[in-house]
Parts: sequence; structure tokens; C-alpha cells
Amino acid sequence: MASANEQRGALFEVRAIDREFYKQRLGCFLPTSIIDIHTHVWLDRFKSKQKEACLRSVTWPRRVAVDNSIEDLMETYELMFPGKKVTPLLFGSTSALGDDIDGGNEYVSECADKNHFPSLIFADPKWSEIDFEERISFGNFLGAKVYLTLSDPCIPEKDIQIFDFLPPHQLKVLDAHGWMVMLHLPRNARLRDPLNLAQLVDIEKRYPNVRVIVAHVGRAYCPEDIGNAFEVLAETKKMLFDISANTCAETFERAIRAVGPKRILFGSDLPVVRMRMRRICEDGIYVNLVPKGLYGDVSGDPHMREIEGMDKEQLTFFMYEEIDAFRRAAIETGLGRDDVEAVFYRNAAEVLGEIGFQGLS
Ligand SMILES: [Zn+2]
Repeated sequence: MASANEQRGALFEVRAIDREFYKQRLGCFLPTSIIDIHTHVWLDRFKSKQKEACLRSVTWPRRVAVDNSIEDLMETYELMFPGKKVTPLLFGSTSALGDDIDGGNEYVSECADKNHFPSLIFADPKWSEIDFEERISFGNFLGAKVYLTLSDPCIPEKDIQIFDFLPPHQLKVLDAHGWMVMLHLPRNARLRDPLNLAQLVDIEKRYPNVRVIVAHVGRAYCPEDIGNAFEVLAETKKMLFDISANTCAETFERAIRAVGPKRILFGSDLPVVRMRMRRICEDGIYVNLVPKGLYGDVSGDPHMREIEGMDKEQLTFFMYEEIDAFRRAAIETGLGRDDVEAVFYRNAAEVLGEIGFQGLS
């Protein structure tokens, strides 16, 4: 009998090259149960239809998926991780000030409730202390996902600071409850930015009960983004780092050496890692190599470059490239099976359990 995917056409194509990549490098490396700590689910109707020019984030992720329903997310896992059971931490996707943040959060809360998945609210920095607390409690969220695009529109993107979109009054609430925050670092220098680093250390000192997850290992997508970050962050005790949407093995290696495998979590950043691509770095700038024609006109985006011919046929999923980079870093740093299982499952299960999410062991 044909599977549901075959009957209505799969969400995306899995090619022989993908199956081979998974079989050779990832299938045995990954544990059977996985927690994906970084996933976006939303429906297109929550998105503002304003022009891209008004946005304060890169534009290429929108070329991969216009939306990501819970059904699409679960189908992605089935297609990409045959034989594995993946539990996602869900949150919405609010990339523009005009997006329907309430509609998006309601949808996430419903999906989490129906499937018994953990979730975070997508928070607006303008919410008062009480409003922020009530919304999280009411929606059964475990904390908040915050993002720089919701900062005051008067601040130029390069000057946005963490506290512009994760204000102290909301940190106070997160601290009081021991809740989680998923934090995407702002600023052009990314992880190595001295202000980001000072504020990260400061947050851990002033709000010790907040479970801070630094998304994408601080966006250190190229070795040049690392700077002295791990010397500074080695003094932190609790802060966690997710490896989502990052394919830089050197960053992973330095993170493992600085904070150890107990504070590193697998996250994907789905749906963007459905993209077929390989990432290279040129003079410290990341470039996504993608198959010619697959993602429309990318000529205006310095982070995208099309390739043709045989090289194009070798491209697999961003998701697989991310995990493979972590696999190489794990070998380089001598991680054992137990450590890998911790990164892909147990660390997340423990922290979610501490916040009060039941059902993961
Ligand atoms: Zn994300």
C-alpha cells in the first residue's frame, strides 16, 4: 500500500545522494530518540505581507518554505530521519513587526497541546511584566523565544542590543519561574561581539535561574566569528548552546572544549534546514552554495550562490550538513556515544524536565 506521502506527494524530494549521506555518516551516529530544541512552526496567514525592504533579517530563509505547519514538521522528520523518533521544541516565526504574533502563538500552543510537545511563546519586548508572565502561563509555554526584529524600529539593525528585545523586566519573570529563553544574538560581529559577550555573562549573573539557550552557537558560522568568545564564555556555568543552522565544525569543536558536551543541544531551525545546500566561508563571510534555479533569483543576496553541473548533484540537506559538521567535531574532541546521546537527547530532556515538562525521560 502506498504511504500517505506517496499518495499526495512528499513535502520535498529525498534523493539517492541524501539517503547515502544519511546511511554512511548519520544513521549510526544519531541516537534513536532525538530532541530538536529549535523549530519554527507557523502558517502563512500569520505573516505580514509588507515588502522585504522593511525587514531587519536576511531574506534567504524565506525561499525555503512559506510556512511550516506541524504536519510538515513531522513529515520532515520522517523523511530525513528514518527509524528515529524526534520530539521538537516548538515556537513561532515572527520576522516582521506586522506579523500576527498572537495568532502564531495560539497556533503553537495548540500544536504543542495536541501532540504533547514542549513549546515557547514568541515574545514581544513591549509586553509588561504581568502580561508576559500571564501569556506564558496561560499558553502552557516553558519560556520565550525572542528575536531582534521586534526591537524598537528606530534602532538601526547593527546597533540592536540583547536588552532591546529581551528586556530586563521580562528576564526578571523568566528568572522567577526558572523558565527558558531561546536567544538569537544580534550585531554584525555575532558571537565575538564584546557587548554581546559582556551581556551574556551579565544575564547569567543577574538572572541565574533563567535557562538561556544561545541559538546557532551565537551565529558563529565561520571560524572568524569566534574571536575570544569561548575564553569569555568558559566562565559561565549554565548557559546552553544549540547547534541549529550552523555547519562550522570548528565552532562546534571550540564550544565543546570550552563548555563541554553537557551544555550543547541539538537544534535544527526547521524548516530552513530543509534547504539543499553546502556552506562555505570566504574571508569570514558565509556563502550557501545552492543548486542553480532551485531558490529563485538569489543574485542580490551575498550569502547565496548558485552552482551547476556535477557539483550541484552532490548537494544534500542543510540539516545533514549541520549534523555531519557536529559529527566531525565530536570525533576531533573525542566525544563518546554517551556524550553524543546527551547532545541529541538527554541534555534537552533534563532541562525541559527541570522546567516542568513531563513525559521525557
Ligand atoms: Zn530559528
